[in-house]
Amino acid sequence: MLDKSPLPPAVNVPNDLAAHWMPFTANRAFKKAPRLLAGAKDMHYLTVDGRNIIDAAAGMWCCNAGHGRSQISSAIAKIAETLDYAPPFQFGIPQAFELASRIAELAPAGLDHVFFCNSGSEAADTALKIALAYHQIQGQGSRIRLIGRERGYHGVGFGGTSVGGIVNNRKMYGSLLTGVDHLPATYDREKQAFTKGEPEYGVHFADELERLVNLHGANTIAAVIVEPMAGSTGVLPAPKGYLKRLREITQKHGILLIFDEVITGYGRLGHAFAAERYGVVPDMITFAKGITNGAAPMGGVIVRDTIHDAFMAGPEHVVELTHGYTYSAHPLACAAGLATLDIYRDENLFERARKLEPKFADAVMSLKNEPNVADIRTVGLTAGIDLAPRADSPGKRGFDALNSAFHDNDLMLRIAGDSLALTPPLIVSEDQVGEIVEKVAKVIRAVA
Ligand code: PMP
Repeated sequence: MLDKSPLPPAVNVPNDLAAHWMPFTANRAFKKAPRLLAGAKDMHYLTVDGRNIIDAAAGMWCCNAGHGRSQISSAIAKIAETLDYAPPFQFGIPQAFELASRIAELAPAGLDHVFFCNSGSEAADTALKIALAYHQIQGQGSRIRLIGRERGYHGVGFGGTSVGGIVNNRKMYGSLLTGVDHLPATYDREKQAFTKGEPEYGVHFADELERLVNLHGANTIAAVIVEPMAGSTGVLPAPKGYLKRLREITQKHGILLIFDEVITGYGRLGHAFAAERYGVVPDMITFAKGITNGAAPMGGVIVRDTIHDAFMAGPEHVVELTHGYTYSAHPLACAAGLATLDIYRDENLFERARKLEPKFADAVMSLKNEPNVADIRTVGLTAGIDLAPRADSPGKRGFDALNSAFHDNDLMLRIAGDSLALTPPLIVSEDQVGEIVEKVAKVIRAVA
């Protein structure tokens, strides 16, 4: 735990919070009762008023190795002093090549090439662009349609927003990309209630892809993108057999399959990638968050060799993919990524998560009889707890839970409407799981 008393010297809380327009935040409510953080170590955040709060959210699904890992911060500091920046177009740094190889080693066989960007949103848009470009160079330029899924989240770029399936994220932004369809969400509360791991019910939701193929013609469809476990809309694990079925249908019709593993990558489900847990190999995997343990912005796409190689066929001096970012493979992020992968390996954190999963699931399921709990889902070290919405004000119960957790119970959790998400760092101890669950029970009672 952190020292409770003094704030780190650099932390000066301004009187006026107006200038910072905060992302995905209820700004006016926040500024009346701010949740301000000053430090972080292991499983805890330190608030600006000197309280230690237990982090049941791994920051935002990203600090898988816990906070304040000195191996990572020193790696960042060291490279910042020796190589602050290097242009990633037409130049490179050794760390980027090493990190790509390390990531490829963790990925399923046959996915051995990594394209770097800076976030999950950029990773989703990059993967969609690679899919479209791939078909074009294969002489299949008619494959321009993209398919996402209802309740899917792939970040906030125009591509990710278009294939995403959250109405509130879509409805303000015009027509978005054309030629996009959505598979149905895989959740059925009645048939899947209180499931640990993969629900038995729901493989048939994948068959909707056949319907879209019949509707549009396979030769118009470029790619399907799904999260193996939808995180941002309340922790919805794929039903048993669902991902395999999607793989079969996409393969049959020459459609690329993209797994968005921004949340599920790097141990959240007890494996390097969910693809490994479910034994299904997609054509591309997007990642972000856990790759640097949250300590530097980084995202990327792991690409199947056959796709990568198809781009490598033209004249050697010509840029093969007209895409990339000023900060692709940024030195600080590469150094953070390498140090993070060392920690995951040396501390066996993915295996640790796998072993803790049954106890975590039991502990969270014990909340079943708390007031207004409508459903609980668990998978890996992740849980979604649905609270029945207040009839007068949907979303208010979840919002109150966020505040009750932070201000009154020294707990950080995530909310999605009236759902609470628990997704602690993979270093969480059994005792800390118990402590988190006890605090969540208090929060649920407080908002009842
Ligand atoms: N995809 C998924 C599955 C995510 O959960 C997120 C972020 N929660 C994103 C993409 C977007 O990532 P970022 O916020 O880094 O752009």
